Amino acid sequence: MKTRRGLLLIIGLLLASHVNAQSIEDEAVVWLQEFIQVDTVNPPGNESRAVDFYAAIFDAEGISYETAESAPGRGNIWARLPGGNEPALILLQHTDVVPADREYWSTDPLSGEIRDGYIWGRGARDMKGTGISQLATFISLHRAGLELNRDVVFVATADEEAGGAYGAGWLVENRPEIFAGAGLLINEGGAGSRLGDQVVFGVEVTQKVPVWLHLTAVDTPGHGSSPRTTSAVTRIVEALNIIRENPFPPRIIPPVEAYFAGLSLSMDDEWADAYANIASAIREPGFMQEFQEYSAGHHALTRDTCTMTRMGASNKINVIPPEAWAELDCRILPDRPAEEFIETVRNMIVATGVEIEVIMAFTPAISATDSALYQSIVKVTREMHPDSRVLPSVSTGFTDSHFTRDLGIVSYGFNPIITERGDPSGVHGNDERVPVEAFRRGVTDMRAIIRDLVVD
Ligand SMILES: [Zn+2]
Repeated sequence: MKTRRGLLLIIGLLLASHVNAQSIEDEAVVWLQEFIQVDTVNPPGNESRAVDFYAAIFDAEGISYETAESAPGRGNIWARLPGGNEPALILLQHTDVVPADREYWSTDPLSGEIRDGYIWGRGARDMKGTGISQLATFISLHRAGLELNRDVVFVATADEEAGGAYGAGWLVENRPEIFAGAGLLINEGGAGSRLGDQVVFGVEVTQKVPVWLHLTAVDTPGHGSSPRTTSAVTRIVEALNIIRENPFPPRIIPPVEAYFAGLSLSMDDEWADAYANIASAIREPGFMQEFQEYSAGHHALTRDTCTMTRMGASNKINVIPPEAWAELDCRILPDRPAEEFIETVRNMIVATGVEIEVIMAFTPAISATDSALYQSIVKVTREMHPDSRVLPSVSTGFTDSHFTRDLGIVSYGFNPIITERGDPSGVHGNDERVPVEAFRRGVTDMRAIIRDLVVD
């Protein structure tokens, strides 16, 4: 009798926890659909609409929150679950999305509809889907009413897609109390994917640092029929040519070495050896060019790069202009200061007389993997997906994590959602969508990871 009652109790508890898990996932799916329908396309952003969306949910849950607009319509919202003395954990998301062209989509980009097993819409992955996973985690912690070993802070910001000056960057400057006492942060940037027959979870620990440069040349203007030996245009062309013909020497930073070595374990083609020994591979003659053709994204993790993206000169074919300009989207590895790199470029083109102006440059920073959050990610993903492994990864692009890494907060780009091989994502492109089942599973896993970290 006793045993039987015990068994029934266990079954009851299992059922209850199953029902609970189902319910927050169901809620998360509906929240995501609704959140996609909130138009926060940036430009112009209108992220205060996202603030209203989250505020309504917090009101219903009885969670207090604060909001601030960095400019009219550019809203930010944050809320805190109080806990013990461990350094706080921040769940960081941006609420803006990039534009979408209806003409190239097979549905309204802001529909949030469910069709063919996917939730469709701009932001389904970048990053309203991840944002809702964070929300579901935060809400379920609040509902459970457990004692937390640290504060858990929910932060949803504006403007990441345009650089974050009206969002995370603004909050760091104007609401520093949000970040005070925080030691860990989870943001967009890494996820699970199937490589070979294994699931690999990438945890983004650092990213290439943007250094955006504006180049200007000035020289004597004149008539196109009577060229002088130099002009503003020839100077710019010469400077660009020097940069094009002198690619920055490759160098392997430790996070990239670890990332590539991890990737090599799931590779079975002729590239596996090179990935396993990338530091020596880059010294082989001809390797860097072949590598760039093989994977432009991975190649970019092995050196500083400058991409020529904009230029301008005369507005008339027969007029030699007094000034010509070009812009370079440079991305540097995060192991040295941007100033040092800018000095290198300046020296390379000094003979051309071209002046360099810095449009934007961030401070490089790398988050270590010896944190409690990383441990929870490793432990829980192994439990949930026994065949998986976790890999620190490096991103060629940038996210708001550079703001918080600057503050000394260990910041990871991570969402445990798993993307199957060949599954389209549409991030920043057409038909952005996320499989309903993968999204639900991601919510469950995210909750488990954070709970492992914050509940002793
Ligand atoms: Zn994003």
